[in-house]
Amino acid sequence: MDIAVVGAGITGCLIAATLQKQGHKITVFEKSRGRGGRATCKRTHWGQFDLGAPFIRPTDPLVTEHLTELEQQGVARRWLVTPYKKQQTLQADKDNTPVYVLTPGMNAACHFWLQGCRLATSTRITYLQHSAGKWLLWDESQCKFGLFDWVIVTAPWPQSHALLAPHVCLPAFDETHWLPCWTVAAQLQTALPDVMPIIYPSDSILQLAVLDSEKPLRQGHSQIWTMQLTHQASNAMRELSSTVIARTALMALASLFERDAVDSLQCYQHFWRYARLAPDAPRPSPVWAPELGLAATGDWALGGSVESAMRAAVQFCQQFTDNFCYAQSRSG
Ligand SMILES: Cc1cc2nc3c(=O)[nH]c(=O)nc-3n(C[C@H](O)[C@H](O)[C@H](O)COP(=O)(O)OP(=O)(O)OC[C@H]3O[C@@H](n4cnc5c(N)ncnc54)[C@H](O)[C@@H]3O)c2cc1C
Repeated sequence: MDIAVVGAGITGCLIAATLQKQGHKITVFEKSRGRGGRATCKRTHWGQFDLGAPFIRPTDPLVTEHLTELEQQGVARRWLVTPYKKQQTLQADKDNTPVYVLTPGMNAACHFWLQGCRLATSTRITYLQHSAGKWLLWDESQCKFGLFDWVIVTAPWPQSHALLAPHVCLPAFDETHWLPCWTVAAQLQTALPDVMPIIYPSDSILQLAVLDSEKPLRQGHSQIWTMQLTHQASNAMRELSSTVIARTALMALASLFERDAVDSLQCYQHFWRYARLAPDAPRPSPVWAPELGLAATGDWALGGSVESAMRAAVQFCQQFTDNFCYAQSRSG
């Protein structure tokens, strides 16, 4: 079958790879310039760093299995670090779930999975048209793509909702359920000594600080930290300039190490409008309309992490394969 996948994040790329192995013809449409979605890696002249998910801490054996397979392919590594929590003092996190990173960057699995699939980047799909049992996809510059037997939408729920609403009945979408996140990457002028590479602060404007340059296969000459502001702070500061955001994050990093200041050589900031679904928000169900050849799934269906994106992809492929085999057995 000819299948269009909207979104080249973890969910879309794993679905594309699985269905391609089954012999389907896959085309992936991605609005950004690269693969990875919220598991993206930014390359600059001063180094590379992960701007979205910084690592994976899998709790599901099925996801660990996928990561082991990626490890064998040289695409994932165990990062032998102890995460720390900062309350009054820095304390080792008692949770001993292993930490994995994708190498060379967190979008590496997406690169690996999409080998052999057709990929259209910088293509934002704005409308899905269904006629005579086939799909045409339209992008924002009014180019059309098709014809496809199936469309599988894997964008964050707010963006999926807009594409799906003309075709299926959906619960109302509430933007307030989606938490934004400012992420700042900074190359420091002087390395912080004796550092813990993963810190979950409390009573801070930061929710996470990661020494990105310490990850496997990343060691550079100077320290690069990625810092995530809390969702609450990100929301309150969404209109502020990126310079102010960088300064705020660096001050918070300094205070984690009980310093007056840390100086940076370079900074990069990104605002994620839909970073994660709020933990207490109702989770949208995956969309499954085989009579139309339309489906949607993503991390939002199962939790809001790389792990849930992988689980969503695996569950979707199982359902798709069962449905396909059933349809074939009936027609044959
Ligand atoms: C700052 C931050 C920190 C995080 N930290 C962690 C962490 O520590 N651990 C963890 O496990 N997870 C973390 N996550 C969550 C994790 O990154 C996501 O859960 C996961 O990557 C989601 O994958 P996905 O494929 O479902 O969605 P996405 O990665 O969002 O992929 C969807 C893709 O669809 C594309 N798209 C959207 N609309 C369209 C359109 N109309 N046309 C074409 N393409 C479109 C998007 O550009 C995107 O590439 C974090 C996320 C953020 C933002």
